[in-house]
Amino acid sequence: MYVVFFQLISKYRGYAKPLLLVIITVLSVLHLTAQSKKRSPNIVFIFVDDLGYGDLSCFSATGIKTPSIDRLATEGIKFTDFYSASPVCSPSRAALLTGRYPQRMGINGVFFPESWTGMPQNEITIAELLQQKKYTSGIIGKWHLGHRTKFLPLQQGFDTYFGIPYSNDMRSVVYMRDNEVVDFFVDQQLTTKIYTQEALDFIESNQEKPFFLYVAHNMPHVPIYASDDFLSTSEKGLYGDVIQELDWSVEEILKKLESLQLLEDTLVIFSSDNGPWLVMEDHGGSAGVLREGKQFTFEGGMRVPTVAMWKGTIAPNTVYKDLATQMDWFPTFARLLEIPLPNDRPIDGKDLSQVLLGQGKRQGDDFLFFNGQRLQGYRKGKWKIKMPFKGTQGSPWQSAVAAHDTLLFDLESDPGETKNLYSKNKKMALDLFKKMEAERESLGPLPPSLIMNTNADQSHLRYLEEKRKKE
Ligand code: MG
Repeated sequence: MYVVFFQLISKYRGYAKPLLLVIITVLSVLHLTAQSKKRSPNIVFIFVDDLGYGDLSCFSATGIKTPSIDRLATEGIKFTDFYSASPVCSPSRAALLTGRYPQRMGINGVFFPESWTGMPQNEITIAELLQQKKYTSGIIGKWHLGHRTKFLPLQQGFDTYFGIPYSNDMRSVVYMRDNEVVDFFVDQQLTTKIYTQEALDFIESNQEKPFFLYVAHNMPHVPIYASDDFLSTSEKGLYGDVIQELDWSVEEILKKLESLQLLEDTLVIFSSDNGPWLVMEDHGGSAGVLREGKQFTFEGGMRVPTVAMWKGTIAPNTVYKDLATQMDWFPTFARLLEIPLPNDRPIDGKDLSQVLLGQGKRQGDDFLFFNGQRLQGYRKGKWKIKMPFKGTQGSPWQSAVAAHDTLLFDLESDPGETKNLYSKNKKMALDLFKKMEAERESLGPLPPSLIMNTNADQSHLRYLEEKRKKE
């Protein structure tokens, strides 16, 4: 080849210099292109709290406009049958970060400011996984996996943390930075704005190397707040305004990535931790066509609106209609970044990389619907079975839900779970029940539930009450 090259040079001596320049330029461009293709993608995971399946325009919301979240769907992928692993906050977050059913770590309920427990430190989070490829990881917002120092994000692979460490309706709402409380007085009207600015700053300071940014908004979990700029901007009252401010936040993040020319190097995902808190009425969201919401294992409690964009890699307007779950991100990121999965523990999620790359489907089509320790349902393919339920009377924190016998739904034709097909398909229901039990069995023995809090001993007050009665 070199002989030919020098023969050419000697033949066209007069053109040698410009020709060399052209060759060098072409080679440099090819080299740069190869390099930029090699860059590991940044991951921005935007997680909102208690957003319903019917609260985004791209999921048929009315009265709420979410053009930037919709953009993720139109320039990327929309998942129609995407499940959170739990109908409440903490277990859902544990599952997202570890790729495992939260029951495996005893997280069956939510942590409180008085909790002394947290997600066990030996769990491997996405942030720890990505350390193998030297990612910088930051979390902004709600952690909710234990806020005693040893359970905080910095001890679970994250490099930076800023946010309210648990739910915004709990006692002692504070802002923490890394391992310390930095503000005891939180004006929640500004929380979404402050988190957004923190996210933009994180991207700006980490633009040179691959990063994982987990933005876990406290909104739209009650009590809901929007900043003055967004009040009365939607046709759905304050709740709609809150969602439109979250949409603005997504817009700001996309704009920042675009301005730094990082959009093609970044996988941006948007999802919710569980369904809408319907007992909060117009301060809770909408599950759209789905049945029930947060705290229940009907579809409305666990099927969450999920979209993702990776410009130039995910084909625009992709719609994925098969089952996928929040636990899938862990093995998906591992596959995309060529990191081996931990081999000392089961990972329940399935790889979605083929789905994102348009090269195939997710392997596996079943899912267990746990509500804390109770296994209440199972989906396989388009079929879902629900175990008999004694119902709840309702409270200020929970909707009343009627008791029911075994339920069987065809989710493809009936996503709203309105037609119980059990009596006509008892054989199939039995088959599903057996598969569900086999799946549960495959999890092996599960640890006892972590203690979230214990009741205060108020016997002294009862003593005084009794004593005064006798006086
Ligand atoms: Mg939640």
